[in-house]
Amino acid sequence: MPRFTGKVAIVTGSSNGIGRATALLLASQGAKVTITGRDAERLEETKQAILKAGVPEANINPVVADITSSEGQDLIISSTRKNFKKMNILINNAGANIPDASGKTRSNASIENLQKMFQLNLQSVVEMTQKARPHLAKTRGEIVNISSIGAGPSAQPQSVYYSTAKAALDQYSRCVAIDLISEGIRVNVVQPGLVSTGFSTAARGLSADDSEKFYNSMGEKPHCIPAGYCGQPEHIASVIAFLADRKASEYIVGQTIVADGGTSLVLGMHTEFGKPAPKN
Ligand code: NDP
Repeated sequence: MPRFTGKVAIVTGSSNGIGRATALLLASQGAKVTITGRDAERLEETKQAILKAGVPEANINPVVADITSSEGQDLIISSTRKNFKKMNILINNAGANIPDASGKTRSNASIENLQKMFQLNLQSVVEMTQKARPHLAKTRGEIVNISSIGAGPSAQPQSVYYSTAKAALDQYSRCVAIDLISEGIRVNVVQPGLVSTGFSTAARGLSADDSEKFYNSMGEKPHCIPAGYCGQPEHIASVIAFLADRKASEYIVGQTIVADGGTSLVLGMHTEFGKPAPKN
């Protein structure tokens, strides 16, 4: 029997990228899935991809919603309960690094942008966790939060508020994991490195083609991605599914798995080590 048969999952941010791959994987392995995002067209593409994998339409519940709005969160939860009657898995994946009105993402970006980055990357996760909690307690469910290697410990001066919000998300996840495990709910985190998705389009205004070129070029630089290629959404989806599968990861509570092809282990100075020593 497929490993998620009988499970109901919500995957936020599943109209694209990592969320889409995760919804597809969970649904292909038996789960009923609520897929959600703001963009109705892209959400339909996710639905079609899942149908193409042979999943019955009745197992897919598309909800167009803004995850930062209370109404959007309520709709995602109520629609899941109405259609599938219960909830086993919450994947808090929606997130983005969005520049401020003047295009800034560094430490001089606006305070309004700071609030926006925290609202999307941290607060929406806190709110979804609070709203899902009573339902997940009934099923002894799982929560997987999608953070980023940007959360640290290395500095991320090119994406200060986004990275700071993700660091807060990591600590929130550890704290709430201890609270919720007493109700039988497990909380864990995945920190992706560079993954070829729409992320760079939102963060850096790149076209889809330029975004693809950027990710491929990073994959060719071993001092950026030692694995030698850029991550694909499926690489992250399989780690998320592992943490969402109680049989596979039952004793992992409040932990973070880094999936970055080795990126976060490389220091800039390593690129200098192969070079001849400077002569005095
Ligand atoms: P994508 O841009 O491809 O997907 C982001 C998803 O989040 C989309 O489905 C988007 O849906 C959704 N989303 C964004 N804002 C909102 C909102 N206000 N309300 C509802 N949904 C929203 O990026 P990724 O797949 O790469 O991103 C997934 C997660 O992975 C994010 O949390 C990101 O921070 C994290 N991550 C990504 C990395 C990468 O290199 N790609 C690296 C490290 C972490 P829509 O536009 O339809 O609203």
